[in-house]
Amino acid sequence: MTFPTERTAVLTGAASARGIGRATADRLARDGWSIAILDIDGAAAEEAAADIAQRHGVQTVGVAADVSDQASVDAAITAVEASAVPPIVALVNLAGISSPTEFMQETKEAWDRVFAVNMTGTFLVTQRALHGMIERKLGRVVSISSISAQRGGGTYSKVAYSASKAGIIGFTRALAREMGEHNITVNAVSPGPVDTDIMGGTLTDERKQDMSKDILMGRVGTVDDIAALICFLVGPDAGYITAATYDINGGLQIS
Ligand code: NAP
Repeated sequence: MTFPTERTAVLTGAASARGIGRATADRLARDGWSIAILDIDGAAAEEAAADIAQRHGVQTVGVAADVSDQASVDAAITAVEASAVPPIVALVNLAGISSPTEFMQETKEAWDRVFAVNMTGTFLVTQRALHGMIERKLGRVVSISSISAQRGGGTYSKVAYSASKAGIIGFTRALAREMGEHNITVNAVSPGPVDTDIMGGTLTDERKQDMSKDILMGRVGTVDDIAALICFLVGPDAGYITAATYDINGGLQIS
């Protein structure tokens, strides 16, 4: 099957100006994708979508959505499908929250919220977006795990975050089994530390240096490093890659 030239990528959590999602949306638009941004901050989602449309000349839409809320997700994807953008071919699950609380201070409420956004949010948006992909017999799903799942934290967030991001890896593999027959690939990307707002604010030079100590490439990641990998995985050349988790951490995982 040829890969359609008219296609939309839906990205959750892509409104944050310094975030991985925003950089990925920009890069996909540069490659000719139409873009749908779903974010808890609806105004920021609309602004990001308008900016991308203006700079790259592609169709875009920005919609408010709390990924942890099924009705909100359903309304948002319905709005994307009813808008002028072409059919959804790719979904990138980026919406996430951090959790720097040490385990013995963790509360049930905070634990539940981390899982509601990072894990249940990925389930809800993916299930809703898959209806159209299954119907059209083409799709790409990429969800963001974290090196925190593999190494057990060690960056900024702690147990709840690590556990929720480990869930993404199992989710990806199990879903890939069910989606192969529909010509839909399902993969995860697992970044090491990247300087975005989810790290508790902009990383100071001192924090970056400290985090880089064990990174073989000698620096923390950039949003563009991660965006490049995601763009490849949702693109036309990645149709035989599924159930994979891509480590992208400058070698931190083995140090
Ligand atoms: P980010 O800029 O904070 O992006 C996260 C985005 O998700 C924000 O736009 C945030 O909106 C949005 N969001 C939060 N709760 C939401 C909800 N309930 N519904 C919809 N959107 C919601 O941080 P990032 O680093 O780019 O994070 C992107 C993904 O990469 C996350 O899943 C993160 O866990 C993962 N990751 C990041 C790193 C890293 O070092 N930066 C490493 C590994 C994995 P608000 O800003 O309005 O809250």
